[in-house]
Amino acid sequence: MKNNCSQRSAWIRVIIMVTLIAGLALLGCRPRVKDDRPLIVTSIHPYKLLIQEIVGDSIQVRSLIPPKASPHTWTAKPADMKSLDDAKLLVINGLGLETELTGAFEERSAKLIDVSKLLKLEDQAQVQADSTLAVETDHAHAGMNPHIWLSPQLMLRAVIMLSDELQTRFPSQAATIRANTSRMINDLAAVHRQITSERAAIAVPILITYHDSFHWFAKDYDVQIMGTVQSSPGQEPTARELTLLGAVIKTNKIKAIFVEPQMDKRSAKVLADEFGLALLELDPLGQSHGSARLIDLIWSNWERMKLSWNQEKPSVKP
Ligand SMILES: [Zn+2]
Repeated sequence: MKNNCSQRSAWIRVIIMVTLIAGLALLGCRPRVKDDRPLIVTSIHPYKLLIQEIVGDSIQVRSLIPPKASPHTWTAKPADMKSLDDAKLLVINGLGLETELTGAFEERSAKLIDVSKLLKLEDQAQVQADSTLAVETDHAHAGMNPHIWLSPQLMLRAVIMLSDELQTRFPSQAATIRANTSRMINDLAAVHRQITSERAAIAVPILITYHDSFHWFAKDYDVQIMGTVQSSPGQEPTARELTLLGAVIKTNKIKAIFVEPQMDKRSAKVLADEFGLALLELDPLGQSHGSARLIDLIWSNWERMKLSWNQEKPSVKP
């Protein structure tokens, strides 16, 4: 009987092994589907969403920096550089956001679109010498906050300008690009109107964000960023900075503090515990929100901000 049993289990093991090997062989033999569509590579995920929506499915769009990584600290591997060479077009944010990649992009300037240059943001700042455009922290290069993709107004202008560039570079897709562009202009304008109207109903919208990622969004809607946990992205706050933030939290009766999925959450947790704050999440790059379009990403962050102003009891965790 014992012998029968061990023979049976030996057979079962053999069957499982054969099935596994056959399965693996099948997987290995499956022909890879080659994607022959022209490739556009964007530096960060939000521009992948934006460009894909403009050009439609006939063009492949990939983000170089994965949305779970911070573009401020990410470094490229050799395979990433290959995708820069494979691409017909590169779309970057500029303003020093993609610090580690500046050289690689400059070498490929013939196929490069820098969205901040398209919007002439640096020129504008120089002409106006507008101190409100500059940031107080050492976060930005060129003295300007780089997180422009979170501003519906700037992105409305960007879509119009990108659309022209894309029609020139991909003339066979021009009709699709024009149709998508006009829909996106309407969508961005609608989101802008909606946020403006909801904002008007909030007396004093104040926030403490994890790093200074919502500068342009806050400027669009007169939201006051009272402080940031990290004054420079990726750099943990000092004890003195935490004390100063604590004072801001108390004075302004702040009810929630934000973390970001790309950043270490420990300092925000320390503040949340000490001051009984809700710990919420903003995601400037949109990985955790599962947004299919840039406006969904912007909208989902707005929803989270509203949640922070409606906090009765600080109990929500991301
Ligand atoms: Zn940032």
